[in-house]
Amino acid sequence: MFNKNEKLKILAIGAHGDDIELACGGTLAKAVNQGHEVTMIIVTGTGFTDNNGKVIRTSEIAEQEVKDAANVLGVSNLHILRYQDASVPYSVDLINDLDDIIGDINPDIIFTHFVFDTHQDHIRTAHSTISAARNQNTILLYEPVNPSGQGYVPFRPQVYVDISDFIDYKTEALKSHASQYERYSNKWINGVKSRAQFRGFEMGVDYAECFEVVRIEMKFDNILRND
Ligand SMILES: [Zn+2]
Repeated sequence: MFNKNEKLKILAIGAHGDDIELACGGTLAKAVNQGHEVTMIIVTGTGFTDNNGKVIRTSEIAEQEVKDAANVLGVSNLHILRYQDASVPYSVDLINDLDDIIGDINPDIIFTHFVFDTHQDHIRTAHSTISAARNQNTILLYEPVNPSGQGYVPFRPQVYVDISDFIDYKTEALKSHASQYERYSNKWINGVKSRAQFRGFEMGVDYAECFEVVRIEMKFDNILRND
């Protein structure tokens, strides 16, 4: 899609801490490693209570976990918008907040949730991103990966990224979300790793992440010269 030597500005937007790491943590770690500029936006304050009102993690702990995970991936540009967990709006406010950051960065690639996710925060984050990024040329939706996302329409893998050298960054970033890791244990990590392995098998490498296209700017020099 892009010229080999071009340094890209990449923006990943997720509703909650751990959504981005689960879905495109390997891709972001690889991008940082290659010298691209990566920014993450987490829409909620990421504190979490269960259906009985019991606090599973406080906002303070959650924000620290988000920072630790971003650190593992090598991402230093991090915005936490602190919208209410489970009540992310599809609103002018959120679209304007995203618009401001997108305007500042002018990203070459934007990653966000799959629009046919079942979690209301994920759906509204995806829709808000697509609205805010109306003038951006490349928007990719990352694959829903449990427990961060579950689709009700089949996800169509259209763009693959080989993350074989970065799978450990992805799993370590997930472990940085200690309260989640405690909750789901190694079954969580193994599930995520297995999905990446499955996607890797589809493209003939060890591990991969994949994305569905909203729209994409194709630059012919890179398509024709695959070196
Ligand atoms: Zn989420």
